[in-house]
Amino acid sequence: SQNSDDSSASIFVKNPTIKFTKLFINGEFVDSISGKTFETIDPRTGEVIAKIAEGDKEDVDLAVKAARQAFDHGTWPRLPGSERGRIMMKFADLIEENAEELAALETIDGGKLFSMNKAMDIPQAASSLRYYAGAADKIHGEVLKMSRELHGYTLQEPIGVVGHIIPWNFPSIMFSVKVSPALAAGCTMVVKPAEQTPLTALFYAHLAKLAGIPNGVLNVVSGLGSTAGSAISSHMDIDVVSFTGSTEVGRKILQAAAASNLKVVSLELGGKSPLIIFDDADVDMAADLALFGILYNKGEICVASSRVYVQEGIYEELVKKLVEKAKAWVVGDPFDPKVQQGPQVDKKQFEKILSYIEQGKGEGATLLTGGKPLGEKGYFIEPTIFAEVKEEMLIAKDEIFGPVMALAKFKTIEEAIKRANNTRYGLAAGIVTKDLNVANTVSRSIRAGTIWINCYFAFDNDIPFGGYKMSGFGKDFGLEALHKYLQVKSVVTPLYNTPW
Ligand code: NAD
Repeated sequence: SQNSDDSSASIFVKNPTIKFTKLFINGEFVDSISGKTFETIDPRTGEVIAKIAEGDKEDVDLAVKAARQAFDHGTWPRLPGSERGRIMMKFADLIEENAEELAALETIDGGKLFSMNKAMDIPQAASSLRYYAGAADKIHGEVLKMSRELHGYTLQEPIGVVGHIIPWNFPSIMFSVKVSPALAAGCTMVVKPAEQTPLTALFYAHLAKLAGIPNGVLNVVSGLGSTAGSAISSHMDIDVVSFTGSTEVGRKILQAAAASNLKVVSLELGGKSPLIIFDDADVDMAADLALFGILYNKGEICVASSRVYVQEGIYEELVKKLVEKAKAWVVGDPFDPKVQQGPQVDKKQFEKILSYIEQGKGEGATLLTGGKPLGEKGYFIEPTIFAEVKEEMLIAKDEIFGPVMALAKFKTIEEAIKRANNTRYGLAAGIVTKDLNVANTVSRSIRAGTIWINCYFAFDNDIPFGGYKMSGFGKDFGLEALHKYLQVKSVVTPLYNTPW
């Protein structure tokens, strides 16, 4: 059902003033060198929100120069960790003070639910900063146990200048989850937000300056992937690039890194994550989980449970519930607190999802519900469920990145494992069962970076997150994420004037 215009958000919040549209380089908001801009669009209407300065190679060069200067000669890498942590805590406080406005910017720019932005995304941006702020003074090497009369130890040093390339589906969380561990490690950085959603990253740059992050440490260059993004991945003076986005672009980044300065690369890419529901599951709970797993954030989430495998004993009952619940799912204005699903991020994604739906029909999958766009304007799509999806169908293989579930029936645990692993991706998987042996067997048998048992999307600061197989490598979240922004130096000296 389409719902609109009954909103609890104030007029002010629904129409936030766009304060920051320029590039943020060396502590200042500046125009791009070319003077070019690009438009960022409101997916509720297709209308232009603002013109944003469009960074290109020359702007990335300036930002990297500022970051290099701040790393080689500035205070940030040399501050005591506790001091970096104190400034990061201040940054987190400022995010919380501006939470309403940030949540609204996120809604108009990407079509994400205002209520979720306020309750989850913006608080998570602050909480990532606090988590890594607490780690900033606990980064240390170790004394090594040597086999000879040598004293050996390691130092954990910040790696240098980081390039963060981030996607549009979780602009705030992605910004903070990448920037926070890099700041804690003592690195300096250039962030390129996605061209669909630049507004919050620019606001964060402003808050970082207010918090006391020195000039040059955190630069934000908005721009397109093929220009600004590729200038980052092929830059000779960037030491590590941390990327989240499509597998296709991930491959280009790895190639650019290899062809330039062999920079370290971390890739968090696409997925086609399976959710396996066993006969002993509570059917109502399992239906809610499966629906949430594919419809949350309009299916624009790399770990979406886009393949759902249901054991034959409860299949019919579960399908009935799923369809009922999908039909009652509320699509509409993302400022409306009753709405569960806003518009897809842009026209390109909207058309891509609709073309996959046509593909599914053509391949012979059974369309149980949905399948059509909603409303006169904007990029809304009905929650869509396909049943009898065969392994060889494209809708079972490709990441659709929209509210489209591929449902199939299985008999045995062996069959479920085999089908779940039949993908080039390996980002996440879900298991619903009351049987501990089944849960343990399946979680150890699936090649994916995160396994959720009787839950889904259970993220936490402390839980490392990243892919297996073509979903990439390197972790965000957890203390694990610090390692990509650090390098280990070994120091050795002879003991007691002994020969070495
Ligand atoms: P994308 O991979 O093209 O964009 C992600 C980021 O990479 C953006 O900042 C973009 O500007 C940048 N980029 C694009 N081309 C680049 C290049 N050649 N060099 C350097 N940077 C470049 O993703 P998209 O086109 O916006 O979305 C396409 C698909 O990607 C989606 O349908 C989905 O499958 C996937 N995706 C995955 C995630 C995730 O969280 N894993 C997030 C967004 C999109």
